[in-house]
Amino acid sequence: MTAHIEAASPHVMPTYGRVPIALERGRGCRVWDVNGKEYLDALGGIAVNTLGHNHPKLVPALQDQIAKLIHTSNYYHVPGQETLAKLLTDRAGMTNVFFCSTGLEANEAAIKIARKYGVDQGIAKPEIVVYDHAFHGRSIATMSATANPKVRNGFGALLEGFTRVAPNDYQALVEATEGNPNIVAVMMEPIQGEGGLHPMRAEYLKQVRALCDAKGWLLIMDEVQAGMGRTGKWFAHQWAGIVPDVMTLAKGLGSGVPIGAVVAHNKAAEVLKAGNHGSTFGGNPLAMRAGVETIRIMEEDGLLAHATEVGNYLKAQLHAALSSLEGFVEVRGQGLMIGVELTKPCGQLIGEAAEAGLLISVTSDTVIRIVPPLILSQAEADEIVTKLKPLVQALLAA
Ligand SMILES: *Cc1c(COP(=O)(O)O)cnc(C)c1O
Repeated sequence: MTAHIEAASPHVMPTYGRVPIALERGRGCRVWDVNGKEYLDALGGIAVNTLGHNHPKLVPALQDQIAKLIHTSNYYHVPGQETLAKLLTDRAGMTNVFFCSTGLEANEAAIKIARKYGVDQGIAKPEIVVYDHAFHGRSIATMSATANPKVRNGFGALLEGFTRVAPNDYQALVEATEGNPNIVAVMMEPIQGEGGLHPMRAEYLKQVRALCDAKGWLLIMDEVQAGMGRTGKWFAHQWAGIVPDVMTLAKGLGSGVPIGAVVAHNKAAEVLKAGNHGSTFGGNPLAMRAGVETIRIMEEDGLLAHATEVGNYLKAQLHAALSSLEGFVEVRGQGLMIGVELTKPCGQLIGEAAEAGLLISVTSDTVIRIVPPLILSQAEADEIVTKLKPLVQALLAA
């Protein structure tokens, strides 16, 4: 079958600058387009396809679930919610979960928890500390928490109640919040994804944890992109040995089935009461099964250790292949959340790589982002480097 991909789609809103290919099927870390062309998938649906495509253990489990129940309603108990909540809270060292369907919804719920936590204590105008380069989503509240003006601008007044500081600067955080009785929470990505693959340092995370404890603020970790094993631990903040009060998850949690979760601990878990929050799709049986099976398969197949091992290998190979090029800045990241920063804007690489049979992304204009399925093999890691190197070379030489 061949198909011509229209440059502009007449009926779908033009909200995305799309690469002119259409993918039809996949297996493992490979996908094929409607013309039969093969690609190595180093994007994983933007850190979503944890188990790759058409996984031999996931697909039969989802088929079984679809034949039983896809959706009921939160009018009734959904046993899968309790199963998945137990799996997540055990791994996080936290206590309770609210389920939704996307990352922004998880962050929206986290923001509601923080604000209500403040209002319940008599703080009428609660403020949440957020960061330069942060990305938390595209709803009015989450885009107000986001830093990028391209995301924020053009929609009228933003939500108030956010105080922005620079990442990894403890003194700046102390100064920005000093004497402000309205601060109720600090919200951050442990590794900023859309903002250019910038990690928060472990030492900084520990300092912020201690400050939140001292001040009675909630520490909210947006693990939507970095969580679910991507960095080689279940949650990226665990590299710093801390436990947040609220953690948001989505992307990789369902291996492609839409799902989001807000995981909360102790006092933060007691803020939302019956009637305070809800979601029609949130926690439906299909999404819960996808989350439960993703965790089961990740553990059966040792994917946390694998993400660390193949991620370290891939980072080393990328460094070896690219570091001598003029215009190379650095390779960074943890596990299979990897960024290659260049001195030049490199958005054109997305299309060029696709032409060469490789799916990648670029964030923050100058950072190549590699977030493949966690099943990536060493040979596939080599292939990413082989395909990417000549394109980066040509871009930097131009
Ligand atoms: C992708 C992302 C979001 C938004 O998730 P959606 O499912 O697109 O709403 C929020 N936070 C982070 C860190 C993300 O990477």
